[in-house]
Amino acid sequence: MSAAVNAQRKDFNVNIFESSGFAGGRCRSYFDKKMGIEIDNGNHLVLSANKNFFEYCQFIESVKTIKKIEPIFNFFNVKDKKHWNLNLLDKKYPTWIFNKKKRIPNSSVIDYFAFLKFSIVNKKTKVSDLIQNSNIFKSFWEPFTLGIMNTHPDEASAKVLSNVLKKTLFKGRDFCYIYQPKINWHNTLIQPTIDLLKKKNNKISFNNTLKRIIIKNNNVEKLIFEKNKIDIYPDDHIIFALPLSGFGKLFPDQKIPLEYNTILNIHFKLPESLLSLFKSEVVGMVDSLSQWIFVKNKHISVTVSDANKYDNLSANEIADLVWNEICIYLKKTIDLQEFRVIKEKKATYHQSPKNNSLIKNISNTLKNVSLAGDWTQIELPCTIEGSILSGKKAVELLKI
Ligand SMILES: Cc1cc2nc3c(=O)[nH]c(=O)nc-3n(C[C@H](O)[C@H](O)[C@H](O)COP(=O)(O)OP(=O)(O)OC[C@H]3O[C@@H](n4cnc5c(N)ncnc54)[C@H](O)[C@@H]3O)c2cc1C
Repeated sequence: MSAAVNAQRKDFNVNIFESSGFAGGRCRSYFDKKMGIEIDNGNHLVLSANKNFFEYCQFIESVKTIKKIEPIFNFFNVKDKKHWNLNLLDKKYPTWIFNKKKRIPNSSVIDYFAFLKFSIVNKKTKVSDLIQNSNIFKSFWEPFTLGIMNTHPDEASAKVLSNVLKKTLFKGRDFCYIYQPKINWHNTLIQPTIDLLKKKNNKISFNNTLKRIIIKNNNVEKLIFEKNKIDIYPDDHIIFALPLSGFGKLFPDQKIPLEYNTILNIHFKLPESLLSLFKSEVVGMVDSLSQWIFVKNKHISVTVSDANKYDNLSANEIADLVWNEICIYLKKTIDLQEFRVIKEKKATYHQSPKNNSLIKNISNTLKNVSLAGDWTQIELPCTIEGSILSGKKAVELLKI
């Protein structure tokens, strides 16, 4: 969608072909019939450092639909029941590491020296290589890495995480505000994009999967869709804004990563009386199955990243376990509420150094094609920011 909007800004007539019956892909919202409320498939956390995201919202005129949450990251350890927070609000720069009261519990200044190791990072290094025996592994590095990279620190690329640190924590408070949609992501990102594209007479064809590509002399000559075939003329340009797995199906000769990580989201519909018990809108959970709680208007939503190991648990089992942790957090015994468990099995690829280098080696020799999608921005983790940036760059890269 970002590619379409950026192409339209350059006065292209845009035709979008989408395999499913709705827009939004991995960032979609829907009306859940069982709970009777609208939910997002997942909790997409965006930070104020994500300038391409914000610029995009300005362009599609949806800034007023965004909520800006103060950079105070509240945490709760489910085992020892301790609460703490990382308060970045008071000071512009991260001087809190020198203040014992503001530091993460049981940590000393020395624990933060590891941050310096992220200034210059080798592309083969994994996050854990830089933080061996850290006192803040459980309380900071693990939730931070999982939340950003959907990959455990023992496997995640330190280079990519270091790029995020340099854009956020290292730069201080103003880059660490949390952006969330006031209603949902469809309302903030998807519907305004569709409205804008339709207003300018661009076309979207749903339920129309691209099945095959005919290539001649390094040019795409024909696109074979589920519903129709399209001849490509010399003035036409194509942007493949596919998820990595979809790209792999169309280009079977390219060597791409084959490991993906699941993200689980467990949504609980709650009455106002229970919602009001949550004192912060976002809570990090430690030593637990639950990792992040997001408090919404009519429900709460719990995220579990890097969740392949739970693929065999049923939705009921997952909801029970997570609800039990919520009760511990609230210090109350409350009956399980109505819930929906969403398992996104290919939420992102496994973002290890090895897989990053496979992506880096993907070559696009087609003259009338450029590539978009979160996975194409290997300097960034697979995120909304990367995906929006990829659309912008794909238009810039069109060989016009
Ligand atoms: C549960 C979950 C939680 C997440 N949390 C965060 C977060 O906290 N912060 C963050 O920034 N990011 C988060 N992400 C990642 C973010 O959602 C993605 O990076 C982003 O949505 C990817 O957008 P995309 O356009 O690159 O790919 P997609 O959203 O996958 O879009 C690709 C589109 O192509 C369509 N398609 C596929 N194959 C074909 C074909 N052959 N023909 C036609 N159409 C095709 C698909 O149906 C899809 O609509 C999360 C993702 C998930 C799943």
